[in-house]
Amino acid sequence: MFPNKITPQSLIETYGSPLYVYDERTFREKCRAMKAFCPYPHYQVNYAIKANSNLTLLKIAREEGLRTDVSSAGEAIAALTAGFPPEDIFFIVNNAAPDELRFAIEKGLPVSVDSLSQLETYGQLCADTREEERLQRPTSPSRECNRSSSRGFKGIGDICVRFNTGIGAGHHRKVVTGGDDTKFGVLPGDIPKVKELLNKYNLRLAGINHHIGSQYAQEMYLIGAKALIEIARSFDDLDFLDFGGGFYIPYHKMDGEKPFDLKPVGEELARMMHDFSIEYGKPLTCMVEPGRYIAAECGVLLGTVTSVKQIGAAHYAGSDLGFSTFARPTLYDAYHDIKVYPEAAGKAQVTHLVGNQCETGDYIAKNRPLPPLAEGDIIAVQDAGAYGYSMASQYNMRPRPAEALICENGTVKLIRRRDTCEGMLANMQGL
Ligand SMILES: *Cc1c(COP(=O)(O)O)cnc(C)c1O
Repeated sequence: MFPNKITPQSLIETYGSPLYVYDERTFREKCRAMKAFCPYPHYQVNYAIKANSNLTLLKIAREEGLRTDVSSAGEAIAALTAGFPPEDIFFIVNNAAPDELRFAIEKGLPVSVDSLSQLETYGQLCADTREEERLQRPTSPSRECNRSSSRGFKGIGDICVRFNTGIGAGHHRKVVTGGDDTKFGVLPGDIPKVKELLNKYNLRLAGINHHIGSQYAQEMYLIGAKALIEIARSFDDLDFLDFGGGFYIPYHKMDGEKPFDLKPVGEELARMMHDFSIEYGKPLTCMVEPGRYIAAECGVLLGTVTSVKQIGAAHYAGSDLGFSTFARPTLYDAYHDIKVYPEAAGKAQVTHLVGNQCETGDYIAKNRPLPPLAEGDIIAVQDAGAYGYSMASQYNMRPRPAEALICENGTVKLIRRRDTCEGMLANMQGL
């Protein structure tokens, strides 16, 4: 990943520690791999930007022809700022406040709701908007005419509903988003109620979607897709089916783990969409929403060892990588490969690599064979591009780190500055 002369040490000298570093070439490769995933003519990739919403990466994703899936008004504004047109920003909400839904309607974003109660709220807001437009601008063209139909949403009143088909999967129970133990989606048994609400508010169901979870054995993707297609049979005017994200990436590359071969999955999905379109009587669009797959492998998180100690038989290496900088190990017991610079000689010793935060749960790697570490050594957490910076916080009032991009031409550019202490204090008042 590091081109000539650019070393982890030089990056940290320039931009400080800790530091997220992304490789443009890898990011583009992943965008292209996802675009090639499903050989079906009406196929589109919506990048789930919650994985990494740095504006520079969003702009690259747009150059590569991806659209976006966003989960909040803030993410929608990031996508708009990166140049995505509103119709390319799919707002998949979970328990959104009415203000957020109103924002989506005003901006002309396609929306997916995931409960009957949110469908009702959305319907009411659409009715209000139609009424306002009728009163205010009786002769001007309504927003409905300005909307692009390229993704199946043709105007105010088009909506998508997220279902829970009963199928869920994921690397940790916290990220399984389908099945019996999750807050997400409308259950198939509620289809008659969905239809009632669509009628009541004069809405059209343009698409249905689901997202069964994240980072799981990929056969589950097809099992889930089959279940979503079964639900599609209950609705007669759909334009698209959106099967969600969750694509697997190999986190154990240093142990020889190879990337998962997605080709057979994509081919089978294309076949299913082809067959179902014939049955349905029109070509339906097939959408996927990869987050991790697009962003994880282009990123490493660099940090510095700040102390070493032995407690009983255990070797501890303390670093500036607390869970405010990188939450995945603490939150999900996630495993990430670790490289050490300079590449030390010496026999590996089993080490707990921990952070600088005031909790015992604060660690990057437990019981990990690592070269003997010393203060000043640089550690590089691999595959940290997804759910790394985007989950970082200012806990303990530690500034979130900077982000740098290694460009395709080999130069490095800073794409986000480190938080400042003044910035962290700026919103407080009342002293
Ligand atoms: C998080 C999420 C995704 C992306 O999941 P990955 O596992 O990162 O691919 C896609 N769709 C929805 C609705 C999500 O919530």
